Amino acid sequence: MTLATAAQAAYIVAALLFILSLAGLSKHETARSGVVLGISGMVIALAATVVLAADGGETLAVVLLLAAMVIGAAVGLWRARIVEMTAMPELIAILHSFVGLAAVMVGWNGFLEVENGGGARAEVPGSLLGVHHAEVSIGVFIGALTFTGSVVAFLKLSARIDSRPMMLPGKNHLNLGALAAFAVLTVLFVISPNLGLLVALTAVALLLGWHLVASIGGGDMPVVVSMLNSYSGWAAAASGFLLDNNLLIVTGALVGSSGAYLSYVMCQAMNRSFISVIAGGFGIEAGPAGDRDYGEHKEITAAETADLLKEAKSVVITPGYGMAVAQAQYPVADLTRKLRERGVEVRFGIHPVAGRLPGHMNVLLAEAKVPYDIVLEMDEINDDFATTSVVLVIGANDTVNPGAVEDPDSPIAGMPVLRVWEAENVVVFKRSMATGYAGVQNPLFFRHNSRMLFGDARQRVEEIVSAL
Ligand code: NDP
Repeated sequence: MTLATAAQAAYIVAALLFILSLAGLSKHETARSGVVLGISGMVIALAATVVLAADGGETLAVVLLLAAMVIGAAVGLWRARIVEMTAMPELIAILHSFVGLAAVMVGWNGFLEVENGGGARAEVPGSLLGVHHAEVSIGVFIGALTFTGSVVAFLKLSARIDSRPMMLPGKNHLNLGALAAFAVLTVLFVISPNLGLLVALTAVALLLGWHLVASIGGGDMPVVVSMLNSYSGWAAAASGFLLDNNLLIVTGALVGSSGAYLSYVMCQAMNRSFISVIAGGFGIEAGPAGDRDYGEHKEITAAETADLLKEAKSVVITPGYGMAVAQAQYPVADLTRKLRERGVEVRFGIHPVAGRLPGHMNVLLAEAKVPYDIVLEMDEINDDFATTSVVLVIGANDTVNPGAVEDPDSPIAGMPVLRVWEAENVVVFKRSMATGYAGVQNPLFFRHNSRMLFGDARQRVEEIVSAL
């Protein structure tokens, strides 16, 4: 068996490991082994790639490859070690942008190499040149779209730019125009490939990616992140065709299709239109300005909250992004233990997009050793709020906003939310009256049965625990 054949066999093993990894990641219990399988697949894939390059006798290529791997691995390890759990989504977004950028570079390189009659030209038979140019065009388009889209997602998630949707006049026409321009440019590029057309095509895709994600705001961002994940997969698959690398095609297709399916499932859970989200908020127009007067809010102290909890029969805790920021999961777990010892029924209600990444709250609560069986999904708990004595909303905002159900003009209208306002008492832990991620005011704070407990969630929960 030659080295090249061995490397191809290793690629098949790596592809199988990636599939097993995805299967493992789909359940709590097997997630850890899923990650290990994924890492093993990647190590095998990288080793096989180096072997293939070495087998080709290209010493310089091997040296460059190894240098890039060492630098990339060092930067990756460093960032992954220091990243806060709350900054995970933005890290993921920026990593997607690298895949997009890589696909653009592979596409450009594919074009320049073949056009300049380099070694690669001989490998592309004349009859397939048109196909090659179509591959370049499609790969560059998906890559450039993923690149700028992911950069905007990164900027929004890290609050470097406003998370509200950008509403350019005639935005749907702009998107459709860009798609039409892409189709025309691709046809022209296949007929007569030249650098000018490739530059124009890249520019159109970069602008479209920026506009698509900038136009999406509020509650739809989680879907956008998983959609960009899907795009990055298709970008990698397109690069696989250009580089004639089967493993890249398989891996790209796995990421692309699983990301697309996740986006679809999230859209269903959030009652959003899948088409509207992938088309940059198609059909969603700017609602009326949200400076409505909701009246006065009432406040409560930690000691008074402790008294309320002592009298309670049942308590539901609905955590959100603020719990992650404050790292309040540990005192929350203590509070849960204390209340259960007193005979109070305590359960958690988890919204599918609470926090900043799917499963964010489940991970934090598991970290603090809150028993799984009292952590319920939104659908499992929503009907029980009406018979609950106290709801503690810890750093959640959009996911408990009654406006989503009651106000058709709300930017998050139609998104299912935790109906906490049906409980006897609601205590909202946050630092100010500021809005949540979607930038929408929350009428919950002004309800007769709601009281605000201002301050850092961790500190306030610790105070309640000591008062108990
Ligand atoms: P929100 O982002 O709506 O609100 C979080 C609240 O926490 C803020 O209003 C903030 O208020 C408060 N907060 C922040 N820090 C602290 C602190 N230290 N102590 C106490 N409170 C604090 O959170 P939700 O979890 O309810 O909703 C998630 C939102 O994020 C949704 O809009 C969702 O669509 C979006 N999103 C979700 C993703 C996902 O996959 N899960 C991905 C991307 C976006 P204040 O500043 O006054 O303290």
